[in-house]
Amino acid sequence: YAALRAAFPANLDAVAVEVADGPSAGLAYSWRDIERATAMLANFLRSLGLEEGSRIAVQVDKSVEAMLLYLATLRAGYVFLPLNTAYQRAEIEYFIGNAEPAVVVCTPGNFGWVSTLAFQAGTRHVFTLGDDRSGSLLERASAQSDRFETVPKRSDELAAILYTSGTTGRSKGAMLSHGNLLSNAQVLHDYWGWRRPDAAGQGGDVLLHALPIFHVHGLFIAIHGALLSGSRMIWFNRFDAAQVVRRLPEATVFMGVPTLYVRMLAEPALTPEAARGMRLFISGSAPLLIETFRAWQARTGHTILERYGMSETLMLSSNPYAADPRYGGRSERRGGTVGFPLPGVQLRIVDDAGRPVATGEPGHIQVRGPNVFSGYWRMPEKTAEEFTADGFFKTGDVGRFDADGYVTIVGRSKDLIISGGYNVYPAEIEGVINELPGVAESAVVGVPHPDFGEVGVAIVVPRPGAQVQAEAVLAALKAQLANFKIPKRCFVEPDLPRNTMGKVQKNQLRERYQHLFD
Ligand code: ATP
Ligand code: MG
Repeated sequence: YAALRAAFPANLDAVAVEVADGPSAGLAYSWRDIERATAMLANFLRSLGLEEGSRIAVQVDKSVEAMLLYLATLRAGYVFLPLNTAYQRAEIEYFIGNAEPAVVVCTPGNFGWVSTLAFQAGTRHVFTLGDDRSGSLLERASAQSDRFETVPKRSDELAAILYTSGTTGRSKGAMLSHGNLLSNAQVLHDYWGWRRPDAAGQGGDVLLHALPIFHVHGLFIAIHGALLSGSRMIWFNRFDAAQVVRRLPEATVFMGVPTLYVRMLAEPALTPEAARGMRLFISGSAPLLIETFRAWQARTGHTILERYGMSETLMLSSNPYAADPRYGGRSERRGGTVGFPLPGVQLRIVDDAGRPVATGEPGHIQVRGPNVFSGYWRMPEKTAEEFTADGFFKTGDVGRFDADGYVTIVGRSKDLIISGGYNVYPAEIEGVINELPGVAESAVVGVPHPDFGEVGVAIVVPRPGAQVQAEAVLAALKAQLANFKIPKRCFVEPDLPRNTMGKVQKNQLRERYQHLFD
């Protein structure tokens, strides 16, 4: 917080956050409001007499106050633990039992069952916070002083625990330090060319914030980016494509997951004119289809900058914003790739034996750097398994370098299909299927097979109104791919199962089709 605070503009009465929707629509928060409100919340947290290192678990609807609670937790020196608002009783029970938070903050409507679970798990304090500034947390904090001496923290001390999205299995709590957060924020500040407004508050970046704030993307990458450059935010509690497009002319930076871009493309109001003042569109969290990348270029004249990261490491690689001197001055944002390893991030791609693979060959992505987490909360064995002897973290993603140094994500190690002894990369086959006429998207998963060990099954989603025949898809693939790569079966379905971050849940598809060849 001290580092973010140091970047606030000199004029603390300038607007820092302007609320665009929800019960607080139209409210503006100045930089002084952020400073004072986080002081009051930090004083309140300190007044509870919590142990050092206490976790503050938060499952609330998105609001500026929820962001203030995050910042106050940093200031007070406790550990912030955000939880996806979609989680239900069984999930919350697991997270509270696993994290043993000293404080739980939930929405007023959930107080009954959340507090019961929390008290059973030994949590002493449960407060509520609504997206309309209601609830006991603010009520209690309002009696506190608006001055607070930020608790100094070393860079290796824990700042937050972020539970992974649970795409490949049960969510794990990634322990992130103050140093992890700050180093990554500073690197991105420089790499993406964030612009600071001048003394009169003119000319700087304006971030349109429409992502949830229980994940790395919306909570850290977006918020730290804006605060660290003293830039204003236009704040949406919920993503609504039409409303976001309507406010676009006032913004310069937008961050989204691929599904947000797809939904904005469906808005006729998305025009070059609407995007004229924009400096940067950033995408990440899941693969951006090349088709979306191209459609966005055609519709707005802007090239989306795709980047790659994860809860355990924050951001790892990014397409260039401007010419990158480390990569021959290349400035091209190459669709389908996640760009270059960020400055300070060591990223290598290795085979199963841990040897670097040749350029162009797919392998396991391993990383090291000041941004990489220290381990999974209360999972020392899992943590030990996921680090190499020389301190690289095994991301679980498969990727390759091209000759110019761009990284492409080919899939996840867990999704790799080993069919008759051959490695089959689902992303390669999905790429071919997605180019077929009438196909919107697809997923290829491996299922057990008596002869081949494992074989691929393709799930294909047609475009609205289009007819796609499973047999025709397989026939088209045969003309383009080696035989061992061809899925053995194809199913046409209306959609793919996704989690809240828009990630395809392949484990569900694998379960659905696991007995196909019994
Ligand atoms: P879990 O670890 O619980 O299975 P998860 O890996 O989906 O879930 P996150 O940490 O939220 O949880 O997501 C990180 C993952 O998202 C990365 O490992 C990568 O697979 C994927 N990802 C992020 N950015 C991109 C991108 N630009 N392109 C493709 N995949 C991406
Ligand atoms: Mg993961």
